[in-house]
Amino acid sequence: MAWARFLPGDAAGWAATGLDLLFPPQCPICRREPAAGSPVDGAAASRGGLPCAPCVRELSADVGRCGRCGAARGSASGCRVCRRLRPAWDRAFVLGGYGGPLREAVLRAKHPTGARVVAALATLLVHRHGAAIRAAGADCVVPVPMHWWRRSLRGASAADDLAGGVAGLIGLPVSRVLTRRRATRMQNELPAEERPRNVDGAFHVRRRLRGARIILVDDVMTTGATLAACCRALAAAGAGGVDVAVVARADSPGSIDDDA
Ligand SMILES: [Zn+2]
Ligand SMILES: [Zn+2]
Repeated sequence: MAWARFLPGDAAGWAATGLDLLFPPQCPICRREPAAGSPVDGAAASRGGLPCAPCVRELSADVGRCGRCGAARGSASGCRVCRRLRPAWDRAFVLGGYGGPLREAVLRAKHPTGARVVAALATLLVHRHGAAIRAAGADCVVPVPMHWWRRSLRGASAADDLAGGVAGLIGLPVSRVLTRRRATRMQNELPAEERPRNVDGAFHVRRRLRGARIILVDDVMTTGATLAACCRALAAAGAGGVDVAVVARADSPGSIDDDA
């Protein structure tokens, strides 16, 4: 409801409510089912991003994951890979594996017209992990930044909108303290072993973080090289700790076709 944004706050809300009664909004994920009857709290869903009941069921039914690295291996505090590789973050909050309808939704969310899909994915992420994210005691939500020229070409950054949605639902501020120093090659153009070097030193933090705990948000985690480079930059700027929250994690690196 783009025009409603130009009305003063209350009027926009009432206009949107009236139109929703006339035309119940469709689920932004599947575009088939009406979102009415969604098991997600409608009042808490961000900007029209209320998924229908079947989508909530399907996209929230993930395998057991390591709570540290997010890999599809059941372990709350760390798995054998974590013990060896030690992720640069403390905890990983993952909605699901990168595949099927979640992959389709993530790809649609990257389009300039994908705002409602992004809002629905933020809603699902918070529906699933909101309590744990709140318990992590974060001070702010930080999006993984996209280089400005790539952002302008695409018109929207899914990570940025996602961070805004998650922050709004949890009641935390968004802080865009991370910037890209330089444009990097798309990670999906590179073999896994070259990805860390591609993003190493690519990020800059605008100000000292003085012990702030951070929820770092991106749409997809593939090898985790981008998130790790962001975590190192945040730690160097004085972050007290970083947890990562992503919509989808590629469970077999290399098979993925997109990674910011
Ligand atoms: Zn749906
Ligand atoms: Zn692990």
